[in-house]
This record gives sequence, C-alpha cells and structure tokens, in this order.
Amino acid sequence: MRRLADGARQIGLPLSPAVLRAFQTYRDELLEWNQRFNLTAVRDAEQVEIRHFLDSLTCLLALREIDGEQRDATAFSLLPGAAISALDVGSGAGFPGLPLKIVWPALRLTLLEATGKKAHFLEHIAARLGLTGVTIVNGRAEEVAHDPAHREAYDLVLARAVAELPELLEYTLPFARRGGWVLAPKGSAAHAEALAAETAMRRLGGHLHRLLSVEIPGLAETRCIVIVEKVAATPPEFPRRPGVPHKYPLR
Ligand code: SAM
Repeated sequence: MRRLADGARQIGLPLSPAVLRAFQTYRDELLEWNQRFNLTAVRDAEQVEIRHFLDSLTCLLALREIDGEQRDATAFSLLPGAAISALDVGSGAGFPGLPLKIVWPALRLTLLEATGKKAHFLEHIAARLGLTGVTIVNGRAEEVAHDPAHREAYDLVLARAVAELPELLEYTLPFARRGGWVLAPKGSAAHAEALAAETAMRRLGGHLHRLLSVEIPGLAETRCIVIVEKVAATPPEFPRRPGVPHKYPLR
C-alpha cells in the first residue's frame, strides 16, 4: 500500500496502519471480485490505490476548503469526526463514498447503485470491512430521489464518473438538503461542464461554489472537484423519469 500511504501523506491526509490495512483488504477483494464480475476497468493494484482510493480521498480536501470558509454560525462541520449524512450516487464499486467512510467512521453513508451485481459487492465489502452506518440502496437516482426517506435528506451528496454535470445535477441535487453540498470529482472537462450546467444548477436549486483543482501524486491527469451548494428546494418535478435526464439534460 506504499502508493496510497505516500500519496495520502503528500496531500496532507496521513493514514494510520489500521486504515491502510482496511484499504488493503478493499483493494484485494475488489481485484478478486473483478475477475468474476466487471466492477471496474482499473485492474492493477497500484492503479486502484491511485485512481480509486487517492482520488476519492481528495473529496476531503474540498470539504476542508468549505469548512474553513463557513462563517455562518448555523453551518455544520464537514470535517472527519462529524456525524453528517452522505449519499454516493452511482457508487459502482464504492467510489468515492467508501474510502471516505474508511477514514471517517462517524460518517452516515448511503451508497446508491443501479446495477445489482455492484450493489451486491458493496454489501459484501461493507460487511468484510466491518463498517457500521453504511446503507446500500440498489436503485436509480431518478426514482429514489422521489422517496421522502431520501429526498433533500443528506448533508453531502457525492458522485464520480456517473454523467456530465447538467445530467449529474439532476441525479444529485434533489437528495441534498438546503445548506448541504454536492461534490463531483471530475477531469479536465470540469470547467466546460460547469458552464453548460448553469441552467440545470439554477432550476434544481444549486449554486456553483467553486471548482477546486487537485493534484494526485502518481497521476498526470488534471483532476478538479466541482463544489455545489444547495441553496433552494428542488422543484418536485425533478428528477424526471429514468432515462430522461440523460436523453434531455437541462440546458
Ligand atoms: N462512482 C464509481 C466510480 O467512480 O468508480 C462508479 C462509476 S461508473 C462509471 C457509473 C456508475 O453509476 C455505474 O455503476 C452505474 O450503474 C451507476 N449509475 C448510472 N446511472 C445511474 C442512476 N441514474 N442511478 C443510480 N446509479 C447509476
């Protein structure tokens, strides 16, 4: 786990030996399951540490930024230790939600995933790692976001590699409570996507807080976290029916 340990230290998130052991179990189980089910295109152990674990952990850098900027006395803490609720939409094999949970045991985490075999892996790995406070929902964002148990219920909503921002905001903003946050780790297209998402942002009750560039040790590509604040209620007609946000993204 040298790649992960060194990289995390370099970005200011040193990991304890116990946490590194948990990541090692996660990595090994993921690679093993990946031989039977196609869970991720990343098949190399070091690349799992960089592209999945380190990339997911950079969300903590965005949360640190937001936390440091909050002046409102009613604002809630976004730093590990706080028992906030988070939802990872289209979690796949658990990214970015599960790496955050591993370093942040108090996080109340829900993982939403449309594909049954991936949801099954998520159940398995959460149990294997002995994580408590993790709920797995096998379903589509367009439907689950209309369930009162989930609608505008989360302090933090995460989504990586699920869709372009205009579509992604329709999958994520309905879940965030007012005053909550959406984080979307993206690549170099983040700026263009943010421009294209202005209408979606306004209609769904979001406000673009900032784009945070992050450097990941061992990764040449540009990474950028789109940070969105939920400033107004999402109108009840959103999200639209399954498939509609993809076919006709809000423009
Ligand atoms: N977030 C993970 C990551 O970064 O490794 C997985 C990314 S994978 C490319 C996209 C995942 O989103 C897939 O597992 C897919 O099943 C899920 N997904 C796509 N659209 C969805 C929707 N509308 N609701 C729930 N899950 C969805």
